[in-house]
Amino acid sequence: MQHKATDRIIFMHNVAKTYENGAIALKNINVSIRKGEFVFLVGSSGAGKSTFIKMLLREVVPDEGNIFVNGYNIMEMNHRDIPYLRRSLGVIFQDYRLLPNKTIYENVAFAMQVIEAPRRTILRSVNSVLDVVGLRDKYKCFPNQLSGGEQQRVAIARAIVNKPSLVIADEPTGNLDPETSWGIMDIFHRINRLGTTIVMATHDKGIVDTMKKRVIAIENGTIVRDEYNGGYGYET
Ligand code: ADP
Repeated sequence: MQHKATDRIIFMHNVAKTYENGAIALKNINVSIRKGEFVFLVGSSGAGKSTFIKMLLREVVPDEGNIFVNGYNIMEMNHRDIPYLRRSLGVIFQDYRLLPNKTIYENVAFAMQVIEAPRRTILRSVNSVLDVVGLRDKYKCFPNQLSGGEQQRVAIARAIVNKPSLVIADEPTGNLDPETSWGIMDIFHRINRLGTTIVMATHDKGIVDTMKKRVIAIENGTIVRDEYNGGYGYET
């Protein structure tokens, strides 16, 4: 299949990262991800998954190679453009990272206030994404009044409220039981169907094997497998 260069939302060419203490986190990484793909990033602990994700956010800068994310040249970008890169991405973590003293509504609205969206737009968009994650009736609650699965759904609402074309999730089901995890995956599936690219690092063999998406497996800092309709690949 032929694809235009502009179809790529992530492109990495010969990327390598060694930390200051000498730990080689990634080497010789070549990846191209097109708009609209759903990609699982798998690999054992210490394989390099978090470093991979941090490079997409430009929290970690590689020592070698080229990376383009959402049209931004990670290696050569100006410092003042970093916030724009990050705002163009939706990011979800294992531990939710909600603001404990803000309500669910305020947690999601906050992501729009920082980009100075008009109040009416914020109201409409927050209600709409809380509908997507099935939590509109909880808008007045505080995070500690919600279950883990509900908190993660708020984090997803916050990640998508500014309509990012790329959502990056680092072990989003890592703290959740299997049934709750499937509820989260159902939301990711729907977001992806609407056109959003998803890159998700996970240890969840059941989810990876069932969803049959593209699987990029990293071991000892290199990509050992990259296949469509893939599985987790080894017993856990
Ligand atoms: P994973 O997310 O797959 O568990 P990481 O990307 O966190 O893997 O780690 C890859 C390798 O880089 C490991 O050997 C880890 O110890 C090392 N590493 C990660 N972060 C740092 C850091 N900030 N400083 C030094 N070494 C690090």
